[in-house]
Amino acid sequence: MRETESKKLIGRGVREGASLFRDWFQGLTATAETGNRAAYVFVMGSMTEILRVFDLPVVFPEINSLQTAVRHVSADFLNEAEDYGYSPDVCGYVKADVAVQLREGKHPMGRIPKPGIAVITNACNTYLKWAEIWKRMYEMPLFTLDIPGTRETGTRTWPGDEQFEREKKYVQVQLEELIALCEKVSGKKFDIDRLREVLGHANVMSRDWKRMLELNQSRPSLFNALTDGTVFLGVSNVFRGTYEGAQFFDNLLEELEYMSVNGIGTLTDEKYRLCFLGVPCYPIFRRFNELFTEWGGAFVTSTYLWFAAGGSNLGIQYDLENPLESLAEGTLITVRDAMDSMFRPELSMAEIADDFSIDGFVYHPIKSCRTVSTGLADNRRALMESLNIPSLFIESDMMDQRAVSEAQMKSRIDAFFEGLAFRQAREAVENT
Ligand code: SF4
Repeated sequence: MRETESKKLIGRGVREGASLFRDWFQGLTATAETGNRAAYVFVMGSMTEILRVFDLPVVFPEINSLQTAVRHVSADFLNEAEDYGYSPDVCGYVKADVAVQLREGKHPMGRIPKPGIAVITNACNTYLKWAEIWKRMYEMPLFTLDIPGTRETGTRTWPGDEQFEREKKYVQVQLEELIALCEKVSGKKFDIDRLREVLGHANVMSRDWKRMLELNQSRPSLFNALTDGTVFLGVSNVFRGTYEGAQFFDNLLEELEYMSVNGIGTLTDEKYRLCFLGVPCYPIFRRFNELFTEWGGAFVTSTYLWFAAGGSNLGIQYDLENPLESLAEGTLITVRDAMDSMFRPELSMAEIADDFSIDGFVYHPIKSCRTVSTGLADNRRALMESLNIPSLFIESDMMDQRAVSEAQMKSRIDAFFEGLAFRQAREAVENT
């Protein structure tokens, strides 16, 4: 491949992802401006596979909220919601969204339509209280999909197990209820062949997402799991089940495979391979990452690309001959997996450490999100007991600049890398 072609290929995924995102916001703005409504969903169990069959525009309020932080305007939105009566303790995503609603959908990237239906799962308890706010504001139908989680460590059940089959039926009946509700809201009849088409695109995306994560086991790593990964994650959620989404991930794999074959990494000098646990620090998104890359630290994987991808990491393939039952099965497995990844991330740490040759784990618990953050200190203790790998624990927030102290973070991060450097030097001496 000539140099100019190579330049075009490397970084294409991030450029195309950003462009798709702008298109998506333009589409939402057009919907809002014509007074039409949308389906509000969350990333863990979005059920976009069903909503697309009815051509319902889909809004991801979590993504809208984080965009206000990335664009450095979240403080205005949080203050507005707090002035309205929401406590500083409430999840920042909720408050930014409340402010968007109070502003009649005005958002830094366009205009967000009002909800005509909201579909939520029990993956996060905040989802339920958040959706109740819309219900009070707009009196639209709210559908809660109840997904049975893992009862105890090691007791996950799988297709063929009696309990799994019972739970799958429980999910399938709920999906049928959701379909009936979507028919009512959209005025359209359910079309099973359209569902097959959507699931076909979702299959491509899940397969590619899994492969994308695996490819970053390369040394040097091919993409930054924190920055580039968040762009890919956005496309994975927002364009799930679409032709554009499938095309995007096919293209992305082409780029990553090319980089892998040619030994091209995301950093020119990758010294430390890191795994990120938690939710990114969106108020200083780029700078947070630089505090690590300046030391040659590369985030090669993260739990965020796991739980916030709604289970795509498993590469689940729907059976198009049996779409509804297969969707129920896939939903049960993937939402359950997303819940496990938040509550018990240490279950996979040993595997991740090995597969990705991890030099250090970076924990980032945040004030806003108790669902993800509450158990991280215990997770770290479990990790330290089982693996001899250094870890860093830094607290801040994903939305609230008031809880982010860059200077304090920097001194902790610098000390972490000094420790890693000392460790590597000592190991080098021991191995000579
Ligand atoms: S509490 Fe955490 S998982 Fe729940 S909505 Fe807020 S950010 Fe998302």
